[in-house]
Amino acid sequence: MDSSAPLHSPRYLIPLDLRNVPQYRFDAVVVGSGAGGSTAALEAARAGSSVALLSKAALESSNTLLAKGGMAAVLGEGDSIAAHVQDTLRVGCDLADPKVVEDVVSCGPAAVQALLSMGAELDRDESGALELSKEGGHSQPRIVHAGVDATGKAIQSSLVRSVRATERISSFEHVFAIDLLSTPEGRVAGVLCSTERRELVVFQAPQIILATGGAGQIYRETTNPVIATADGVAMAVRAGAVVRDMEFIQFHPTCLYIAGAARVLISEVVRGAGGVLRDRNGLRFMPESHPAAELAPRDVVSRAVFDSMLATDDTSAYLDLSGLDRDPHQAFSGLSSICEFFGIDIATDPIPVRPGCHYQVGGLKVDREGHTSVPGLWAVGEVASSGLHGANRMGSNSLLEALVLGAATGAAVGQTVQADVSRSLPSFTVREQGPKTPPVRVNVDDLVYSLKSLMWRELGVRRTGTGMNEALDKMRFWSRAVRAMPLEDPRAWEFSNMLEVAQLITLSALAREESRGVHHRSDFEGARPEWLAHTELTPQGNEAMIESVGIERRSLASALSSS
Ligand SMILES: Cc1cc2nc3c(=O)[nH]c(=O)nc-3n(C[C@H](O)[C@H](O)[C@H](O)COP(=O)(O)OP(=O)(O)OC[C@H]3O[C@@H](n4cnc5c(N)ncnc54)[C@H](O)[C@@H]3O)c2cc1C
Repeated sequence: MDSSAPLHSPRYLIPLDLRNVPQYRFDAVVVGSGAGGSTAALEAARAGSSVALLSKAALESSNTLLAKGGMAAVLGEGDSIAAHVQDTLRVGCDLADPKVVEDVVSCGPAAVQALLSMGAELDRDESGALELSKEGGHSQPRIVHAGVDATGKAIQSSLVRSVRATERISSFEHVFAIDLLSTPEGRVAGVLCSTERRELVVFQAPQIILATGGAGQIYRETTNPVIATADGVAMAVRAGAVVRDMEFIQFHPTCLYIAGAARVLISEVVRGAGGVLRDRNGLRFMPESHPAAELAPRDVVSRAVFDSMLATDDTSAYLDLSGLDRDPHQAFSGLSSICEFFGIDIATDPIPVRPGCHYQVGGLKVDREGHTSVPGLWAVGEVASSGLHGANRMGSNSLLEALVLGAATGAAVGQTVQADVSRSLPSFTVREQGPKTPPVRVNVDDLVYSLKSLMWRELGVRRTGTGMNEALDKMRFWSRAVRAMPLEDPRAWEFSNMLEVAQLITLSALAREESRGVHHRSDFEGARPEWLAHTELTPQGNEAMIESVGIERRSLASALSSS
């Protein structure tokens, strides 16, 4: 497969005139303060670099903060690196890179140690050993957690404490990264930002790391916080970076669905404790969809919930906790108090749930040190496609990835800075004209809502070529309007980024004519051998070349024995 598609995206989001914009120089700039960005900043600083750490919200606000279940690492007696590798490759449906998987999984125990030495208080059993739980896809108990389901909070706070205590790191909160600035040779060497007071500022550095997290906000239903608007992928693509496997978007099957309430994730633990899924008529539908019923893989449960909604013409399915052998109010107190506010008693009433966008599996294509295809630009965490997850992410592997590859990327950036004796940087004086004020007022919030609804309908848990082509036409129509209007504030920048990345997801999903992992096409059921390949989008001017890039087919056994 090889084709090109128009992207309709300008090189810069706003008209540029940098003559009076203050420019600050650092050895490295890290955009994003979640697990990936904070870890990378700490390592780069440890190697001697001065680092600017930017975050468009408070340093703590991130997907990392919300992580619940925990982080996977091989620590138990019956467990082994080979078993964790094999589980990850199996869940990734043959598209994960065995070498990357082996690298990341092997570093899991050291990453846990690093967290402990930063003061993270992970849960322990009565003997004082780290408590390990088991999650879907994992053949062994290997998930470390904190505060039962507040692991992200413990990790994010420990990282932020360490960042604040590190002299070489200067943190800038509520600073929105708008665009990467490129030299005429195509090297990235600066980030154009807007401060909380809406003043433009440029952070210059020879090495720039994107750690901006995921894209959940593109979808109407999502577990992700408001910061997850795909800014990193969009700005890197504008700067020429290659993206990979954007069609793989993981959905969580059970998000609380009450109008007006946040789409809180209701974890597998609730189904593991005996919660069952029913449709509006009270029919339990999971046993006929999968032998593991409610504990089937997330993508299977998501599709079954979606199908039951369609079949019964309802806006949700329902989680029933009435058969639990313990008091649901005590076992799930957080869920209990949210539902109580809306008049739902979780011990007796059905809890409305829907699938929601949870994790961006693809992203900026990086090598094992975090280099993107653009000189000077690195990426880590959910914004990147490292090769760990393949076509589906195994639960609790993403925090592991962000911490392990965050450290590797930060260390590589630190070494690169030390090796670069010249440390010369261009002074940016770019000037580009922007669009004129349009004759009509454009309602950005309305556009955001329309895009999110469109993505949920046509690029959700079930997709068809017809639906996706119609969605793409609509997105291109909106893109033309967006190009003609001045983008003057963070909400407009976020919308433009989400629209751009929504198109990348759609183009990649149209290209992959099969169903694999979290990508399910009703018009191409089942995986196809010729699609044992990655989709790659390479920006070229205002177009994107879409290619399928084949990988060597290797059995799990040979992949493990050769690594
Ligand atoms: C509800 C929930 C539960 C989860 N549970 C788990 C779990 O149990 N185990 C697990 O392994 N994974 C879990 N995940 C996934 C995991 O939390 C994320 O994949 C991971 O934390 C991503 O880390 P990150 O550093 O890449 O990005 P994030 O933690 O999302 O950080 C992104 C950072 O980028 C900044 N940023 C973004 N755009 C800009 C911009 N334009 N300018 C400046 N700054 C910007 C943000 O402000 C933020 O600081 C969960 C996710 C969610 C949403």
